[in-house]
Amino acid sequence: NIVLEPGASALLDALHRAGFAAYAVGGCVRDSLLGLAPHDWDLCTAARPEQVMELFGEKQCIPTGLQHGTVTVKRDGRLYEITTFRTEGSYSDGRHPDSVAFVPDVREDLARRDFTINAMAYSAEEGLCDPFGGQEDLARGVVRAVGEPLRRFEEDALRILRLYRFAARFGFVIDEATEAAAKQLAAHLDCVSVERIEEEMDKLLSAPKPGAYLEPEVLAFVLPELPLDYLSEAREIIDALPAGAEEVTTRWAALLLPLGEDGTRKALKRLKCSNAVIDGVSTLVKEKAPCTPTLSLQAKRLLGKYGLHTVQQLTALWSALQPERKDEFTALQKEAETLTAQNACCRVSQLAVNGRDLMAAGVAPGPGLRRALEALLEEVITGRLPNEKAELLAFAAKFSAS
Ligand code: ATP
Ligand code: MG
Repeated sequence: NIVLEPGASALLDALHRAGFAAYAVGGCVRDSLLGLAPHDWDLCTAARPEQVMELFGEKQCIPTGLQHGTVTVKRDGRLYEITTFRTEGSYSDGRHPDSVAFVPDVREDLARRDFTINAMAYSAEEGLCDPFGGQEDLARGVVRAVGEPLRRFEEDALRILRLYRFAARFGFVIDEATEAAAKQLAAHLDCVSVERIEEEMDKLLSAPKPGAYLEPEVLAFVLPELPLDYLSEAREIIDALPAGAEEVTTRWAALLLPLGEDGTRKALKRLKCSNAVIDGVSTLVKEKAPCTPTLSLQAKRLLGKYGLHTVQQLTALWSALQPERKDEFTALQKEAETLTAQNACCRVSQLAVNGRDLMAAGVAPGPGLRRALEALLEEVITGRLPNEKAELLAFAAKFSAS
């Protein structure tokens, strides 16, 4: 039930015609067997990188990681990574192999891969190559290390986070020995760069229901600033939030909430997040749910400070934090969407008058002008005045006289 993508199939055919063993491998085989559409097709082959480049022509090839055996080949406007079968030497830094050696047998290549569900290869001619029982683990919904788990996590501590990431993505359970080893070696995560940790956490937090996979024994080494007694609460809140890569900001906010705005900024800065991410998450952490929402006014006040997307994230977060008020926050979000669609006035820049109009009407320039505009905005968003020039100017004249 694996249907090779045409581009991948054409590249495999060309390698086979040239006499090299070659397969689709890893994520694309796993996803195909799960009935999901793979987002990219990685290939592996007995051909050496220079042989791959010769076969497909220098022009079609990008030498992505020649020393690791990877060549990226362009085909029909898409990119495919073709990696030579390889084994890895010793790992003295706990993260990267000291050396790699090219080997002729795909099984040796599969043995270096992290989990059984990621260690399968497929070609149309030979069918599935699955020496570690990946297909069975997929059917049972289990993530299990290839080989001796302790050794595999000792080699590369990033695999500890990959374990939880893949399990969360598919809602799988984790093999007992594999999980015990991951927890035992969690301190080895100090070998992993903060950039890779952040990337893995993003993927983990994007999963449908990541709560159960936020393991305190592991998280203690990923986010030492987090109070672990908050975690069981955080897990529930996070699972109640919308999933997906675009929603990860809100999930980060739910996780970092007890750190407050400053603590959140510091933690995300340590993980080398972009300023946009830091600002987005810390805004959500800082802004507290209104106590007595007069719907329209609250929506306008929020839209006066933030874009609609941030308001949507805030209402999602508040709903998860206070499920008993979910209807209220959903209505608040709907109101914000309606007001945005109507281009309702929520900011000084949306008033029917500007500073120049007020000066022409006799308001003195300077801080008083700003205060006058803000007073007008308050009248308009509370509905005491319509957003119409004549009425606003009449009110401003009173304001400047007093
Ligand atoms: P995704 O859909 O998230 O890209 P993937 O399975 O393709 O999933 P990648 O990170 O792209 O994951 O890696 C491709 C393959 O390389 C994996 O399926 C796995 O076989 C192998 N692999 C990647 N990283 C490691 C690692 N740190 N240790 C061992 N094998 C790894
Ligand atoms: Mg991949």
